[in-house]
Amino acid sequence: MSVVSRFAPSPTGPLHLGHAWSALVAHDAARTAGGQFLLRIDDIDPGRVRSAFRDAIDVDLAWLGLEPDGEPLVQSLRFPAYRAALERLAGDGLAYPCFCTRAEIAAEIAASASAPHGPDGPVYPGTCRRLSANEAAARIVAGEAHAWRLDMAGALGRTGPLVWYDETGRAIAADPAPFGDIVLARRDAPASYHLASTLDDAATGVTLAVRGSDLFAATHIHRLLQALLDLPSPAYLHHQLIGDADGRRLAKRHDAASIASLRAAGVDPNTLITDLRIGRLPLGYRWVAP
Ligand code: GLU
Repeated sequence: MSVVSRFAPSPTGPLHLGHAWSALVAHDAARTAGGQFLLRIDDIDPGRVRSAFRDAIDVDLAWLGLEPDGEPLVQSLRFPAYRAALERLAGDGLAYPCFCTRAEIAAEIAASASAPHGPDGPVYPGTCRRLSANEAAARIVAGEAHAWRLDMAGALGRTGPLVWYDETGRAIAADPAPFGDIVLARRDAPASYHLASTLDDAATGVTLAVRGSDLFAATHIHRLLQALLDLPSPAYLHHQLIGDADGRRLAKRHDAASIASLRAAGVDPNTLITDLRIGRLPLGYRWVAP
């Protein structure tokens, strides 16, 4: 089977050295296998996306010599597909509307004696799961803002044990339960990262999902969503992250690490890529554990 990999940046800031590494890993995995290297634009966050960052992605990838195949998949153009999947899960009795604000959730967690913590922080206490179907429907009709959540216990009851595979073929037991009732669609966006990423990998025939090791835990959720929606499961390659000299993971505050800054500083992209391929980072950066 031919490799189809993808690089999936969010246009919410400039690409930096860590993105170059992620794109390179995905690019090389596809190119060495004669496969395809796809670009996906993760722009479902309306408050944080900027068109200048979107445009810069093409410029930066071209400068790095990591040109994707074909047209990118743009998440903001996929809202009907996300809605259809959500409706299917709701129709299966596995998704429910959640009207809680962040403040209400925090207050409920603070008041509870035993608030379990998941990999992403405190687990949603399930308040809206207990609403009657009539009440939930009435509040939606009344126009009350709401997210949609997965009924995790119900979902796990449907699928039974699941595994996913890493890039070496190693099977990893999926363990999404600690996340609790994750968000499938946000109040302000028609899909969560989890739902959109899972659906898009399937829609584009991705066989190797390449992303940072900070997203390792999310794969447990994605595997569950695949099972619930009858989607194929790609292999997952979670790569090491790059940090600054103090070992802090690169983020938007690291202006000097942006691809645009490296370009402006006269860095040679061929040298940069050749060095990255053998794990050598520019001065002032280091590999960090997740
Ligand atoms: N858009 C995500 C990011 O910028 C990556 C999503 C994924 O690879 O699943 O980190």
